[in-house]
Amino acid sequence: MIPILDSKRQYAKIGKEIEKEVLEVLASGSYILGKHNKALQEEFANYVGSKFSLGLNSGTDALHLALRALNIGRGDEVITTAFTFVATASAIGLAGATPVFVDINPDTFNIDADKIEAAITPKTKAIIPVHLYGQPAEMDKIMGIAKRHNLKVVEDCCQAIGAEYKGQKVGTFGDFGCFSFYPTKNLGGMGDGGMITCNDQALFDRVVALRNHGGAVRYYHDELGVNSRLDEIQAAILRVKLNYIDEWNKARRENAYRYNELFAKYPEILTPKEIHDSYCVYHQYTIRIENRDEVHKLLQENGVGAMIYYPVPLHLQKLHKDLGYKEGDLPLTEKDTKLVMSLPMFAELTEEEQKTVVETVIKCLNMTKQKV
Ligand SMILES: *Cc1c(COP(=O)(O)O)cnc(C)c1O
Repeated sequence: MIPILDSKRQYAKIGKEIEKEVLEVLASGSYILGKHNKALQEEFANYVGSKFSLGLNSGTDALHLALRALNIGRGDEVITTAFTFVATASAIGLAGATPVFVDINPDTFNIDADKIEAAITPKTKAIIPVHLYGQPAEMDKIMGIAKRHNLKVVEDCCQAIGAEYKGQKVGTFGDFGCFSFYPTKNLGGMGDGGMITCNDQALFDRVVALRNHGGAVRYYHDELGVNSRLDEIQAAILRVKLNYIDEWNKARRENAYRYNELFAKYPEILTPKEIHDSYCVYHQYTIRIENRDEVHKLLQENGVGAMIYYPVPLHLQKLHKDLGYKEGDLPLTEKDTKLVMSLPMFAELTEEEQKTVVETVIKCLNMTKQKV
């Protein structure tokens, strides 16, 4: 079986380093917001190029608290994409606001910046672009629109740590950048975790308070907040891993280009494109293929761990039934939802395995064609 992700291979390389740090935390007695949280926040901000960063319990919390800190809530609309993980939109709902979904640019699977302005109403307060699969959204256009219409921007960077748009890392364009350390992400912990980045002292202070039950001073609470902290053991693990993220992202890119070459003689497979002037970190390597569901099933049976991200676009989720969307509202999102399939992608994936993946995809596709 060639899995979509094999975390054990990464552990085999750096496990000793991690074990040493974890044991030190266990022995230290300092388990909440200790020295590793503090150090990771500095190292992370340095890495991304933001002034501030704050460890949180998850990427979902980062998105939710970003909106809260920007005073976005009941009666407000937030523009985003339906082609993403549910957390992008549920953060909007949790803040009390309403998601407004805009169709994608099929070249990148990201929100089509040229369609954002048509979705703006007097209630619109913010845009959440998602850098899906590790590819930056078109931040020039998006920041331009935000400026013209006086909107906030919260970047969903959960799949894109280290990705760059015109030489600048994602998470530094908008008012906030939101990152996840869920174990399958490019920088994954060994449990849950998240990070928020920003460049504004007042906004940063607000998130610090919100994640501490709405109070900057202990036991004094000014507003409704939450408990959201990055676990100290996770912070220690992530500090080790942050040293490798560039190397791992580079290896992912090389693997992506190798897939592109291997698929080049099969025009029936649409391979992912990169937007100009970007550094894509290939959280996923996602092709578009006909008879997708049948091919996917056959791949499982033939030892290739492909996945569908995501089988139902967010505007058609039962969760959002009250928003009144119907099939056909976001035609390009809906079309690609039926075609996309993500293939095994991680730094340690071998050339041999990639060849097997490509051969098996083609074999399975041909099987589905013979059946009909
Ligand atoms: C993983 C992910 C999230 C949520 O992150 P968690 O840490 O699991 O809460 C949000 N948005 C996107 C695009 C993601 O991939």
